[in-house]
Amino acid sequence: MSMLGCVIHGRGDLRVDELPTPSPGPGEALVAVRYGGVCGSDLHYWRHGGVGDFTLREPMILGHEIVGTVLAYGAGADADADGTPAPGTEVAVHPATPCGACPECTAGRRNVCRDTRYLGSAARTPHVQGGFATQVVVPAAQLRPLPPNLPLRRAALAEPLSVALHAVRRAGDVRGKHVLVTGAGPIGCLVVAAAKAAGAAHVTATDLLPRALEYAVAAGADSTVRADEPSSSGRPSEVDAAVEASGVAAGLDTCLRLVRRGGVVVQLGMLPPGQSAFPGNLVVSREIDLRGAFRFDEEFDDALQLLATAPHFDQLISATIPLAEAESAFTLAADRTKSCKILLDFTPH
Ligand SMILES: [Zn+2]
Ligand SMILES: [Zn+2]
Repeated sequence: MSMLGCVIHGRGDLRVDELPTPSPGPGEALVAVRYGGVCGSDLHYWRHGGVGDFTLREPMILGHEIVGTVLAYGAGADADADGTPAPGTEVAVHPATPCGACPECTAGRRNVCRDTRYLGSAARTPHVQGGFATQVVVPAAQLRPLPPNLPLRRAALAEPLSVALHAVRRAGDVRGKHVLVTGAGPIGCLVVAAAKAAGAAHVTATDLLPRALEYAVAAGADSTVRADEPSSSGRPSEVDAAVEASGVAAGLDTCLRLVRRGGVVVQLGMLPPGQSAFPGNLVVSREIDLRGAFRFDEEFDDALQLLATAPHFDQLISATIPLAEAESAFTLAADRTKSCKILLDFTPH
């Protein structure tokens, strides 16, 4: 038996390959993938052969934002065990399997586990193969049945929304506050939505692209600022907290200059590999809390609940493209003048 998968073989070398169908081992589930969201990290592997400090060393199935239907279980995992969804159930797949034993896991910070396995990531070698395939085997414990009224297509946003929810949590209590989000790509837009859901009174989004700022408004931004027009009318003089979601040092610079004294800046965007310049003395003289945010843990369940109640998230999905046209899907996803989140459709044709 064979299946199709979207495999990155090296920088610029994306292929739809025929692969052996995996079979679930003990404690594992076989899932028929329906949709997979193309993430910024997938685009980085495609365009640069790596993301942040993680470099591609062997072919890897991309993808970690996947939803589908449970097909079968391996030994030791079945639908009777503590709420494990029955075959045929629509599920979202939590992409992380933390080790559960390291100091971070023990301290309840499983998202920074030093020995985690994350779908479609080159952080470790051999790489963890991803979920952009017609079928995927994952630990049964990573399956999450969808809440009532959540369409499978919208559920594909659960992973990036979890990232956003975690970043907002790292910013502290944002209720009633003014939050700045630099970068209005898919993640930035979801941070906007997450900040509003967490009770922020006002969210300002910045980006270079007018189209991206339109998506930020669809996500709930109260005001938007063109990053290349610093004197524009919507630009705040000061904000209570800032989330940097552009992954460029200029965004971090903006966050540090606009956050109030004693405020929090969360670096969420992955900056270019190596060192980045930033106005460090502001961190000192204004006692700014500069924090990182990386992936997420239990926020995945919160994300599914939030998506179930908020149809406006559908506006962030720009297109759904068949697996056979993966390269054009990636091209569209990389063109932020045209798109926000792009989904691959794995339905057999
Ligand atoms: Zn992602
Ligand atoms: Zn761990």
